Amino acid sequence: MFQSIKAKVITIFSLAMIIFTCLLLTIVFINERERVLDLELEKSTDISKMHANLLSQEFAQYVAMLQMVSDNPQLKTNDKPFIMQQLQRLMMIGKGNFINAIYVDKNFNLTDVLGHENKVTNPLFVHGEQWRGKEYNITVLMQSKFEKTPVIMVAVPILNNQQEWIGSIAVAVPISALTKKLSPIKLTKQSYAWLVDSNNLIVSHPSAKLVLKSTLSTEESKSYPGFYKIVKQINLQDHGYGRYMDAAINESKIVTFSKVDYLPGWTLFVTTKESEIFIAIYQILYNILIISSILMAIFLIFISQLSNSVTRPIIKLTKEIKVAVSSKNHDFEGVNSKDEIGQLSKAFKGSFKKIRSHTEHLEKVVNERTEEISTKNALLSEQNDKLEELVSKDPLTHLYNRRAFMSLLDKELARAKRHGATITLAILDIDHFKKVNDTFGHNVGDQVLCRFANELVNNMRTEDLICRWGGEEFVILLWEATADGAFNRMDQIREKISKIQLDTVGQITFSTGMVTMKEGEEFKDWLHRADDALYKAKATGRNRIVKN
Ligand code: GH3
Ligand code: MG
Ligand code: MG
Repeated sequence: MFQSIKAKVITIFSLAMIIFTCLLLTIVFINERERVLDLELEKSTDISKMHANLLSQEFAQYVAMLQMVSDNPQLKTNDKPFIMQQLQRLMMIGKGNFINAIYVDKNFNLTDVLGHENKVTNPLFVHGEQWRGKEYNITVLMQSKFEKTPVIMVAVPILNNQQEWIGSIAVAVPISALTKKLSPIKLTKQSYAWLVDSNNLIVSHPSAKLVLKSTLSTEESKSYPGFYKIVKQINLQDHGYGRYMDAAINESKIVTFSKVDYLPGWTLFVTTKESEIFIAIYQILYNILIISSILMAIFLIFISQLSNSVTRPIIKLTKEIKVAVSSKNHDFEGVNSKDEIGQLSKAFKGSFKKIRSHTEHLEKVVNERTEEISTKNALLSEQNDKLEELVSKDPLTHLYNRRAFMSLLDKELARAKRHGATITLAILDIDHFKKVNDTFGHNVGDQVLCRFANELVNNMRTEDLICRWGGEEFVILLWEATADGAFNRMDQIREKISKIQLDTVGQITFSTGMVTMKEGEEFKDWLHRADDALYKAKATGRNRIVKN
């Protein structure tokens, strides 16, 4: 796969893109994480401060309402029906925030809006140090006699014209009213606000099992590791923030806190899951991932196209070179571009042209040489034939000589065997030839030998092998089905030749010894038997054939 340039380019590019995207995401994550955390903490602190202020304002409002009633001169006359009327009015303008309104006269007789009457013992309503120079008093969370739920009492003094304490007027704010006011406070979807009083007792919390049951501690806790550091902070600062673990859900949480001015020692907390704060940054990372994936896909297509435009001409060039190398007649076109590939193609084209012209030249030379050689070969074979003729033929009679006969013999015997023919050997010797030479001269003797040879060739069959054995002696291998057949044929020829009237010398005769080969007989023995037969023919009067 990595042999292709395209695959290499795409792989390297993809790796580079992946590394780049990972780096980018890491940098963004590190930078943005801190920034987002700072921003969120700031926002959360503001939210907790703002709500602490709202809570203070709420209580300031309650105090203002109470002061408006306490300033009324008719109240100071201890006019009971009027006072009842005022208490009911307080309940009404409190819009459900109060569950009771109370009046205490200077003799500590208590009357509430619900109709209870009592002698008070609660130090809040007793004239003492607590009222000196004070315009109002707010209690810690308390369980009072007439309200079934824990309440916070908000009370103002009733003063006569000499600014002396002559009674108190108060409202009971149930803790549920505070919880109701805190519940809409949200930083993220799952964040929540909660409240602790001056005794560090949790008075409002979305988790009901903690309310009025859990107290914040400066000791490390197993359920909320790290929270003790925040508790230490609230004792020293008006607002701040911290981080702790919620062991139950094994999640890190961020908490910001703010003191509530109107409720001395009370603290408002806003808690948020750390993961929720980072939802924004995860969203950013997700967006970057999507965008870079899309960009990467676009770039990959682009790179693929680009590398195609580079590799396509290379592939075309490679194919053409292969064809040009294997085919002689292919016209090398190449790639017509001005880039490096075009130049490479041009170089190949030039090389192919040169190689082709060299090849053509070489072919021409080879053809010429081949023609020359074949002419010479023809001459040589002609000369060889002549040489063969010279070597194998007798120059006077043009019959095979003894050497040629011997070399053809084995082949002839094998052929005869294949055809199932009987081969008969005949030795012919011209009778009284010496006398011809002696009487008419050697030249006439030669002419007689030639004529005799011609007569043999003309009367014998082509398959018969005729040879001049030496002098005036001839050897013939006769092809015939039987030995008798061979004899009869030879005898007819003998008779025919003996009757020919030759120029100068007249008639000549010849004697013949004939033998048929025995199974497994060697040639020399065979020849010897034929010679014996010839001798017999000479001895018994010549011009005859003797079989052996
Ligand atoms: P016979 O009937 O017993 O065969 O008697 P002949 O005279 O034929 O036999 P002989 O062997 O005595 O003589 C053969 C003669 O043939 C001797 C030789 O001079 C002659 N001769 C051999 N070769 C040639 C040749 O090539 N040319 C000529 N003109 N004569 C030849
Ligand atoms: Mg002889
Ligand atoms: Mg003779």
